[in-house]
Amino acid sequence: AKENENFSFQAEIKQLLHLLSHSLYQNKEIAIRELVSNASDALDKFRHVSLTDGKFADDKPLEIQIIPDNDKHILTIRDNGIGMTKEDLISNLGTIAHSGSLDYLKNLTGDSKKDVSLIGQFGVGFYSAFMLADRVEVVTRSYQEDNGWQWESFGTGEFTIAETEVEERGTSIRLHLKEDLEEFTNPERLKFILTRYSTFVPHAIIMDGEHVNNQQPIWVEPKSQLTEEQYDSFYQYLTHRSEEKPLWHLHLSADSPIQFHSILYCAPHNMEKMGFGVMEHGLHLCAKRILVESQCRELLPEYLRFVQGIVDSADLPLNVSRESLQDNTIFRKIAKVLTKKVLDHLQKMSESSTEEYLKFYDEFGMTLREGVNQDFENRMKIAKLLRFRSSDADGEGLTSLDEYLGRAKEDQTQIYYIGGPSLPQVKNNPNLEVFKRKGLEVLYLVDPVDEFMLAQLNTFEEKQIVSVDSADIEFPESTKSADDEQTAEAEEAASTPGFEKVVELFKEAIGEQVQDVRASKRLSEGIATLVSTGGISTQLEQALNMSAQ
Ligand code: ADP
Ligand code: MG
Repeated sequence: AKENENFSFQAEIKQLLHLLSHSLYQNKEIAIRELVSNASDALDKFRHVSLTDGKFADDKPLEIQIIPDNDKHILTIRDNGIGMTKEDLISNLGTIAHSGSLDYLKNLTGDSKKDVSLIGQFGVGFYSAFMLADRVEVVTRSYQEDNGWQWESFGTGEFTIAETEVEERGTSIRLHLKEDLEEFTNPERLKFILTRYSTFVPHAIIMDGEHVNNQQPIWVEPKSQLTEEQYDSFYQYLTHRSEEKPLWHLHLSADSPIQFHSILYCAPHNMEKMGFGVMEHGLHLCAKRILVESQCRELLPEYLRFVQGIVDSADLPLNVSRESLQDNTIFRKIAKVLTKKVLDHLQKMSESSTEEYLKFYDEFGMTLREGVNQDFENRMKIAKLLRFRSSDADGEGLTSLDEYLGRAKEDQTQIYYIGGPSLPQVKNNPNLEVFKRKGLEVLYLVDPVDEFMLAQLNTFEEKQIVSVDSADIEFPESTKSADDEQTAEAEEAASTPGFEKVVELFKEAIGEQVQDVRASKRLSEGIATLVSTGGISTQLEQALNMSAQ
């Protein structure tokens, strides 16, 4: 036997292991799911290698073996996938790839039932092995090597690696089960778990010579034959979120211009809102049911990154490389169809299930609105999906631009908005007065990004979108009569010598800091206000100045 070499886990892993064995609620079943999913990934990687470099190909079927040993209390999960070199073992099974993952897990408290199942999303699924085992052995041989390696850890601070003979390519994870976990060598129990979590794994899972997951992939089946449960469980498989239901799903099949099947899902929560950085995203891309790429970003634009799912096309070659993907026209065509379908789906949803749509908008509106800038072609579709607070319901609830126009004066040529740091501040802005008096609705924007976006959008249904403090405001003719008297009065007041003096005094006092000081015809209650003469509102100007500092 060769020498053991000792290694220390990265500090974060030590903490994670501690968490896993102590504080977190433990749904131990998910450890099986994570290890099977890693085995499946390893098989995908090997298939990719063998397709791109023929010298590694052989005709052994790629499969996952589940081997329970009741006498020895050992459960082994074996794959003949890509395997690992010594360096792979050190970097893959000793460090956390994603920063932030641990912080999130640490913040989990009592009712963390749902959340521990997220472990797979954070790139730390492997360590769930220590929920089942107090000793884990990884015996592996890389497709590039003739020798193998044995990694071993007791889930404390260290692990060891030793060189060893391994007959075949691939990896075996040997779990020395904890004392009270005999159930995990019970074939019936294992079959239940595998069916529950791993039905959709795209490789054969074999236990006692029996193929456990021999099901048709659901995306090629007709919608009419599928149940909500099947859609939910496929979502859970794809996303590693075993307790979670998607907000909505969309099952598509197209024959032209490209043949493809697809199921798209929207997660119930926006991780970006919870303080994570920009989501990693992408759809699973399959060619004739075989996974080609698991996070294919080119299939949907950035602003739809909350959409997860799978796309399977018979028109794609199996060994597509990243480079060829990028200039593959088939591929761009699929993206175009998917984008349109998602936006149409959202539009329908906003009309027929308003409440559900608003729930969606509350989570992902901030992502969707990026599309106004990113996707010129679909800009108007996206604009229709936007929602804002407005003076119509005194800042309560949300309105669409279409609804706004439905309430607008017949001869109104502009859509008015006002920006501010908070709803009370927006509502008290003196620039609103004249709009209230004339019965004109104003959108309330408390997020500078919304203002920026509306400035970009510029018009909607041929109506100019303007800030209430813009010099370009045109009041509808029909609102003028009611207001005439006051305006005349104000004009008169403004032209009285007394006002000229006031204006002069103001200019002397603050003249350097503003472009101009004028007597106003707009105000009746407030005594002074700031207006903007450029294309953007004062609020946005301030926000831009702040971000420039
Ligand atoms: P993730 O799967 O999200 O990357 P894991 O903690 O589950 O995170 O696994 C960490 C890494 O360990 C994987 O990315 C992979 O490189 C390696 N790995 C785990 N299991 C296997 C296996 N059965 N075969 C080959 N590599 C594996
Ligand atoms: Mg994993």
